[in-house]
Amino acid sequence: MEPFYESGSLRFSCTRCGKCCETAGEYYVFLSAHEAELIRRFLDLSPAWFRRRYLSRLEDGALVLAAGRDERCVFLDREGRCRIYAARPVQCRTYPFWPEVVNTRRNWRREARRCEGIDDGPIVSRRAIRRAIRLCRDQAE
Ligand code: SF4
Ligand code: SF4
Repeated sequence: MEPFYESGSLRFSCTRCGKCCETAGEYYVFLSAHEAELIRRFLDLSPAWFRRRYLSRLEDGALVLAAGRDERCVFLDREGRCRIYAARPVQCRTYPFWPEVVNTRRNWRREARRCEGIDDGPIVSRRAIRRAIRLCRDQAE
């Protein structure tokens, strides 16, 4: 059966509410070593300090952003803005067009409880959605 995004018209417009950056202790922001290095350079920090302050490893060795206060991403500022927006990881760039979200209507609707931009705004082209999915998959390899 073809995935939902191939048959449905998915609307999305980010309101910058910052909800997707509230990890709520339920999920992590994964990133590659290359992405971590880009962020470090963006912030102009020493490798040791950046690693200590902003990175963490899960038990399986996966690299993630360290937990911030109040179960929010460590880079989310008080106004709900991303402090590393120009250098944010693929996981953030592609949200909410993650394979596991756009594969079924049910998952897309469920994600809309968290993201108020889902089902709002213009229809997002299938090409753009496929590109986001490809980026996510490349990142996971
Ligand atoms: S890196 Fe930026 S966009 Fe990604 S979760 Fe953190 S604050 Fe949000
Ligand atoms: S939850 Fe959705 S609308 Fe809010 S900032 Fe994230 S992507 Fe944008």
